[in-house]
Amino acid sequence: MDPILIPIKQDKPGFDRFIGSWLYQGRHPIVVDVGPSRSINILVRRLSELDVKRVDFVLLTHIHIDHAGGLAEFLKAFPMARVICHAKAIRHLVDPAKLRLGTQKSLGELAFTYGPISPVNKETLIPHTEAHIPDLEIVETPGHAPHHLSYFYEGNLFVGEAAGVYLTAGGLEYLRPATPPTFFLKEFVESLERLLIQENSPIFYGHFGKAGMSRPMLKRAKDQLFFWEKIISEELSTGHENPVEQCMKRLLREDFEMKAFEMMTPEDQARERFFLKNSVKGYAGYLQALSSDPLEHRP
Ligand SMILES: [Zn+2]
Repeated sequence: MDPILIPIKQDKPGFDRFIGSWLYQGRHPIVVDVGPSRSINILVRRLSELDVKRVDFVLLTHIHIDHAGGLAEFLKAFPMARVICHAKAIRHLVDPAKLRLGTQKSLGELAFTYGPISPVNKETLIPHTEAHIPDLEIVETPGHAPHHLSYFYEGNLFVGEAAGVYLTAGGLEYLRPATPPTFFLKEFVESLERLLIQENSPIFYGHFGKAGMSRPMLKRAKDQLFFWEKIISEELSTGHENPVEQCMKRLLREDFEMKAFEMMTPEDQARERFFLKNSVKGYAGYLQALSSDPLEHRP
C-alpha cells in the first residue's frame, strides 16, 4: 500500500493544502510528522476514518511547529506510539520553552494560528541514533533545520523539508527552497547529496504531497539552491535599499521552478510570499556573513 497523504488544514486562508502528514501502513504503521497542535484533531479524525487503530512510530523530520507542534496531543490519542526524532531535538520536545520563543520570533502571528507547543514525555522519544527498525534508514539532513532527518522506509523517501517545498498549482509543479535563517548552503547541499546516493525512490514532501522519484527531484532542489545563490549574490552586490524585496521579485520572475506561483490563488500567493521572504532572508544572511568574514562564517 502506498503512503497516504493527510492534509492538515489550518484555520487561515492559504493553508488548506500546505501542511501534510503521511500515513504508511507497512510492517509497522507509521505517521510522518503530526502538524501543529491546533489541528491535531484533523489528523486523529482522518486516521480514525481510515480505521487506523494503532500507530507504532511517529517519524519526526524536524521539530518546527508545523511538523511537530501537536506531538503531545497526538500521543494522547495514540499513547502506544513511539517517536523517532533527532537525538539533539529531544530536550526541546521535553522542554519546549526555547522552541516556543524561536517559533514566535520567526513566524510571528502565524505561531498563534498553529497553537501552543506542549511538553512531551521523554519515555516516548527514541533518539535517531538508537532507532533500529527493519527497513528503516534514517539520513541526517541538516540545512532547513539543524536537526532535520529524512527517512527511507520500505522503499519510500519521506523527505520533510530537506529538499524544500513542493507544491502544485494549475497542474504545474512548484519548488521553493526552504532556507529560513540561519541557513548554511554547504550543509543543505551535503544533505541533498547524502540522499542522492541512496536508491532512487518515490519521494514524499512535508509541504506537500508526492512527487515522482527522488533523484530527479533532489537534483532539481540542488540546482535551484545554486540558482538562488547566483541571483541573491547579484542583488546583494548592487547595494539596493531593500535587497530582500528585490531578490523576491527577481526570483519570482526568473526561477523557472517557481513559475506556478502565477497560477496560485491570491491566498496561496500571500502565504508563499511570507515563506519566500523568510527563505530569501536566510540566504541573504548566509551570503552576507560569508562576504564579511570568509573564514569565520560558521557558528
Ligand atoms: Zn520546517
